[in-house]
Amino acid sequence: MTIHFDCTQCGKCCQDLRLTLSVDEAIVWAGRGHEVQLLTEALPWAGEPDPADARARYQRDRSFAVMSGAAPFRISVVPVAYHAGPCPHLQPDMRCSNYAERPRICRIHPLEARPFIPLRPENRHCPPEAWAPEFPVLERDGEIADPEAARIVAQHRQAAADDVPVLAATCAALGLSTAAFANEGFAVHAIAPLTLAEALRAARDAAPLPDDPQPWTIVTNRRSTWTMLTDAECEAALVQQGAGYLGSFPDEP
Ligand code: SF4
Ligand code: SF4
Repeated sequence: MTIHFDCTQCGKCCQDLRLTLSVDEAIVWAGRGHEVQLLTEALPWAGEPDPADARARYQRDRSFAVMSGAAPFRISVVPVAYHAGPCPHLQPDMRCSNYAERPRICRIHPLEARPFIPLRPENRHCPPEAWAPEFPVLERDGEIADPEAARIVAQHRQAAADDVPVLAATCAALGLSTAAFANEGFAVHAIAPLTLAEALRAARDAAPLPDDPQPWTIVTNRRSTWTMLTDAECEAALVQQGAGYLGSFPDEP
């Protein structure tokens, strides 16, 4: 399948979003006083994956090992720039005032930054007229057409793996130890921007992966999941949808 695309400059992709950032990008973004959240997710981890299992290897590379009660998990931490309404860099004429330094995720939009997930135009904010067949080819049979865009996507994914020790050390330094049960949502940690920028910078410049990681609590808004976790002797907490928890399912009290 061939996907054609050209940007209409509608500006929708610069509003009401969470933009995934690398640690270096998050330090710059939060250092300017803009909100960066840390989204955390906990994957149950019975053992090392089959080397042929590319998805499991990807999850492993983007996470660090912890215990929750008696059960092993891997924690994935994703820094995101969060803005309700327009991005602080979006100008009234829909141009970006941060164009030269915009994060990688802005440079590759509307391409899919995550592996194993196909690009679906209907899941993007871009209007239907942006996908007209007379426009340049964006993807052909799942392959990104522009080599420069492909290079940036690869850099974005590599940074997510390279940043794991820094994010583990940052969580330890800030006392963050709750994560959403995998595939149900994300725990949202909103930290004062300058505090977060400083913690990330300190971890990046000095801290190795903690030798003795703190115990983590797995949060869910589904009582059935909470019961399963506590039966497995995990530290678990039942939470509700809200500022601290982005769930994929309705609350199940
Ligand atoms: S940094 Fe620029 S391109 Fe990225 S969301 Fe903000 S305004 Fe849009
Ligand atoms: S939503 Fe799509 S068409 Fe609109 S400005 Fe962003 S990339 Fe361009």
